[in-house]
Amino acid sequence: MSENDKTPAPRPLTATHPLALAPVSSPPATVDGFVREFLVNLNLERGVALSSATETDKYLALASTVRDYLVARWLEDQRRQRADQSKAVCYLSAEYLLGRQLDNNLLASGLTDIATQALAACGIDIDSMRAHEVEPGLGNGGLGRLAACFIDSLATLSVPSIGYGIRYEYGIFRQVFRDGQQIEKPDAWLALGSPWEFRHPEAAQTVSFAGHTETYDDDGVLRSRWVPAWSVRAVPYNYMVPGYQNGRVNTLRLWSAEATKAFDLRTFNSGDYVEAVRAQTFAENISKVLYPEDSTPQGKELRLQQQYFFVAASIADYMSKVLPEDFDLTKLPDRVIFQLNDTHPVIAVPEMMRVLVDERKLDWDAAWAITQKCFAYTCHTLLPEALEVWSVDLLGRLLPRHLEIIYRINDEFLLAVRERFGDDERRLRDMSIISENPASVRMAYLATVAGAKVNGVAELHSQLLREKVLHDFDEMMPEKFTNVTNGVTPRRFMRLANPELSELITAALGTGWLTDLERLRELESYAEDADFRAAFAGVKAANKRRLNEVLLARDGFAIADDHLLDVMVKRLHEYKRQMLKVLHIVTLYERVVSGRVAASDLQPRTFIFGAKAAPGYAMAKRVIHLINAVGSVVNSDPRLEGRLKVVFPPNYNVTLAERVIPAADLSEQISLAGKEASGTGNMKFALNGALTIGTDDGANVEIRELVGDDNFFLFGMSEPEVEELWARGYRPGEFAQADDELRRALDLISSGVFSGGDRSTFEPIVSNLLYDDRFMVLADYTSYIAAQERVDAAYADRDAWTRSAILNVARTGFFSSDRSIRDYIDRIWHAQPVR
Ligand SMILES: *Cc1c(COP(=O)(O)O)cnc(C)c1O
Repeated sequence: MSENDKTPAPRPLTATHPLALAPVSSPPATVDGFVREFLVNLNLERGVALSSATETDKYLALASTVRDYLVARWLEDQRRQRADQSKAVCYLSAEYLLGRQLDNNLLASGLTDIATQALAACGIDIDSMRAHEVEPGLGNGGLGRLAACFIDSLATLSVPSIGYGIRYEYGIFRQVFRDGQQIEKPDAWLALGSPWEFRHPEAAQTVSFAGHTETYDDDGVLRSRWVPAWSVRAVPYNYMVPGYQNGRVNTLRLWSAEATKAFDLRTFNSGDYVEAVRAQTFAENISKVLYPEDSTPQGKELRLQQQYFFVAASIADYMSKVLPEDFDLTKLPDRVIFQLNDTHPVIAVPEMMRVLVDERKLDWDAAWAITQKCFAYTCHTLLPEALEVWSVDLLGRLLPRHLEIIYRINDEFLLAVRERFGDDERRLRDMSIISENPASVRMAYLATVAGAKVNGVAELHSQLLREKVLHDFDEMMPEKFTNVTNGVTPRRFMRLANPELSELITAALGTGWLTDLERLRELESYAEDADFRAAFAGVKAANKRRLNEVLLARDGFAIADDHLLDVMVKRLHEYKRQMLKVLHIVTLYERVVSGRVAASDLQPRTFIFGAKAAPGYAMAKRVIHLINAVGSVVNSDPRLEGRLKVVFPPNYNVTLAERVIPAADLSEQISLAGKEASGTGNMKFALNGALTIGTDDGANVEIRELVGDDNFFLFGMSEPEVEELWARGYRPGEFAQADDELRRALDLISSGVFSGGDRSTFEPIVSNLLYDDRFMVLADYTSYIAAQERVDAAYADRDAWTRSAILNVARTGFFSSDRSIRDYIDRIWHAQPVR
């Protein structure tokens, strides 16, 4: 024995050691403390001195520093969630359109001022750090952004919850324009490193695919099991989701696919290097890229792999890592609710049944009783073509055991239908989870049958779901159906996007409104206060100047002070009817160039578009081309005397939304009634003091009810009127015949003036409108143009306009995603906020 061996061995860090209980403490929340932590991160993590650090070094060190302040609370919340008996929400979503993280995390942790001063002390402008961040675009549009707003509200309301999703290596494509046409570039959002995530390879799950099923005798019980053919590793990356200044930090867990060891070993042994790499690529393809489609199902096998990959990993994670060991599974519904964000995660239902029946060996009925209480389904569409279906053939090949389970769920469900309605063959055929010719699985029906609740996302949408899309189900089980109107987080879309308006509101109302948005009502009386109106108008003008930085850089011109800023930003889709907006612009242009209207009589307007089209959606891409083409003609025609400008900044994303929306005067929400489930862009605009021109569709209905008819420009057919016109037989050409200006506008587009004389470029758009027009653009044109004239007239009285804008802000506090989450708690989850 040597001398050294006499020193006592270090005490093992047991679970009760003080450091294990409270693993880290936050650095001091002072400017000095922040500077120190920042420099430590720069030196020790990045390995550079401040004097030689690049912008990326500084940004990454700053992000690490902010993280350091949040980690202690995060670990504490994770510990508590495991120990806690309270019910948790697992939000399952294939998309999270997060937007930039730095500013949000600074705000949530109350560090914005300290960080600003600390960086200034280091000679760094924090705005340049903000600008350096690449947003994670892990979603297509509204659905993904909703999930991001919801996890913010869940944390802010201290609801125990985990968001589960996919860490796509490439998010939504980056859009650039070449000759006015959309080009898609890969979105390498991870290229600079991803400072907000924590990779946890030790918590990986194995997810299997394909193979076959077999039955076996398990001590006298006949059971089924799945013998898969291959599997991948799902590695979790954790993101902190801080509540707004409440000390709560929830988790977003995104899964990344990697090759399993077995893959490696097999190929290593075979000595086939090329095969080894191919196998690895094959596995990793699963989380490689976000499908850039948002309302048409992709019949892509890889997409089904993605869906199963993330829900299987999430359920396994929840059951093995979050639930205590030896948990009594019959109590599962008291502990967790899995909220299905649209049908993308619905394969979780048969997966839960497989886990309970095959792995945990519960009998079918017990497992089904549990499963039916653990899931709830949010439907996001009304377009029949957007209801996801998977061919039985594909599903059976990729997930053979799940297909068996779906068949059994369907058999038992159809028995229940028969019991209730007798041999009503129409009903049995229409309600079957499996449709015939070709045999396929209707995921929305599976979700409706399995879910404890089914919700639409706005009052009108929920009503139409019950009356139309899921009518038979509503007749059989009306108690399942409910509504939760969407919302948006005021932290990002007011406080961060519109700091000046937020300051003005705080000056009037004091603090607290940001987490109690109905308090905006108190602004109503300020609408009558001339000083407040002047201040409010000043904020709008300042926001336009801020937006001008973007426009100047891109187009070399800025919004003139007297221009009405008219904004339409959202995914490009025919049902959203960007073409109606184009026809308005072309109409104004045609009036001037034909000499019927003097340019000096036009209300000066700048039109801003932002929109990505799915890469395979030819008509949508053609509309983008047309918007750019109209813009380049209109912007440079001297006859307009600069009174109309059209701008289309490429790559609309959350970052651009935060810049554009606070500057807008007019919000375009012009979908055909009965097609937009809710919309959330409409809410962001109203909360930032834009007036809406819109149809009676989605949440527009509720916005109009709240702000009042005097503060909203309604036009177009109502949903029943749309139905009636379809029933009568819609002939769009008749509408063109009936309105001179509509015909002139269409003729101008056909004439080739926007395409250098080439008549064929945009002809497909015009003939589509004249001979098909599924979304009734022509039928609503006349009413739309009339509403736009009301807009011009209203804008002429700028002070009255501002009054309306203030009332829009004051009356739309309902659209906070905090209220949506409270509705989910009351109507669906019955979970309790902690503390
Ligand atoms: C809010 C938002 C959307 C949804 O807009 P809608 O007008 O509701 O379709 C889409 N994309 C981004 C980037 C958003 O912020």
